[in-house]
Amino acid sequence: MWIQWHVLTTVPLAPRSIEEFRGIVRDEVLDQLVSDARPLAGARVLHVNATAYGGGVAEILSWLVPLKRDLGFEVDWKVVTGTDAFFGVTKAMHNALQGKQHSWTPEEVSTWVEQNRLNTIAWEPYDFVVIHDPQPAPILGLLKESGPVAGHWLWRCHIDLTDAQPEAWDILCPWVEHYDATIWTMPQYVRKGAPTSNLFVVPPAIDPNSPKNTALPEEEVARVYARFGVDRTRPVMLQVSRFDPWKDPLGVIDAYRVARRTHPQLQLVLVGSMADDDPEGWEWLGLVKNHAGEDPGITILSNLDGVGNVEVNAFQRGATVVVQKSVREGFGLVVTEALWKAKPVVGGDTGGITLQVLDGETGYLVKTVRECGERVAELLDDEGLRDRMGQAGREHVREHFLLTRYLGDYVRMMRHLAGMPLGAS
Ligand code: UDP
Repeated sequence: MWIQWHVLTTVPLAPRSIEEFRGIVRDEVLDQLVSDARPLAGARVLHVNATAYGGGVAEILSWLVPLKRDLGFEVDWKVVTGTDAFFGVTKAMHNALQGKQHSWTPEEVSTWVEQNRLNTIAWEPYDFVVIHDPQPAPILGLLKESGPVAGHWLWRCHIDLTDAQPEAWDILCPWVEHYDATIWTMPQYVRKGAPTSNLFVVPPAIDPNSPKNTALPEEEVARVYARFGVDRTRPVMLQVSRFDPWKDPLGVIDAYRVARRTHPQLQLVLVGSMADDDPEGWEWLGLVKNHAGEDPGITILSNLDGVGNVEVNAFQRGATVVVQKSVREGFGLVVTEALWKAKPVVGGDTGGITLQVLDGETGYLVKTVRECGERVAELLDDEGLRDRMGQAGREHVREHFLLTRYLGDYVRMMRHLAGMPLGAS
């Protein structure tokens, strides 16, 4: 018989150094970060989320945790374990919080809460605990049932709650109320009932030195394109995203068909990953393949085909135009990744994409399939425009969405909670 353990699992990570970023960000920024973090050296910090692989949160924690260690903190990253039923419920909650209707049953709520209870077994105290997204949100409230809980607790919301189903928020909100602080990507995501003190608005960021974002030689880009049978002599429209309705992969295929009317040479590459906590991925991969039909101009790939970080990097660097046609998007790290590679992005006019795609400057914001296809076609026609927008996008990311800014925000929030705010002497 299989015995499944339902306790938090630690994610192992190789060491990193903040010094890697000299030459990419200004020296003053790095020196300030190191000096701001010094008074908190030795603090024990825990990050908890739902998956070690797939999606933006895992991507962020894979660099945030080792770099916080380098700044002097003792940091752990743990993921909640759970049954398929648990991840089915948490995906339904994710969808409902992004606006999809769902009829909640008491059993579903109980599956979610009780699985979290199992994850509180043998809890060790930390000075700061950052809980990411709704999946592990009940942990603090559950621990409090047995008495006072040590440490400063932050709930980090990565998703767009603008149109959250009220019933879903009513289920989540009482658990969020326990936290000392909350972190949101945009102010409009904050829902009524969330704690109003220590409310921080902080967008995420990318690691420019990761295998996904670091510079690649042209031969490597060409090798990846050749390996997956995509013709580099013809234009390429690319979307990299989980196979998920909110990323609108079917709409991307339709937009490609619009652009292909004027650009018959155009190819579409859809790259998606199967995240550990996303049971919908397989179903959507099937829907996407079905919608693409037998079109030889469309290539659909996933991590199961061997598309890892370096391959995603190569696809982004080799694309003519990058698309992120989401209909909901908490932030959209893939947009940041593409802009950093100096690619113009045609993005859905929603959520965090609007922080990054400055319409007409770093790409275009679109609301419909037709608009998306037409903007792609416009960019395909004008190499000068693509270059100008690409460069503007890279500088926009350098200024606002590189990891040093995000690390600095974490240090600022932690110092505030520890009663040693920055700027106070
Ligand atoms: N990603 C990947 N391979 C894929 C699809 C996505 O490595 O096939 C990565 C992508 O590069 C990005 C992250 O997963 O770093 C997705 O983050 P984003 O914020 O765009 O979306 P989320 O999946 O968190 O909604």
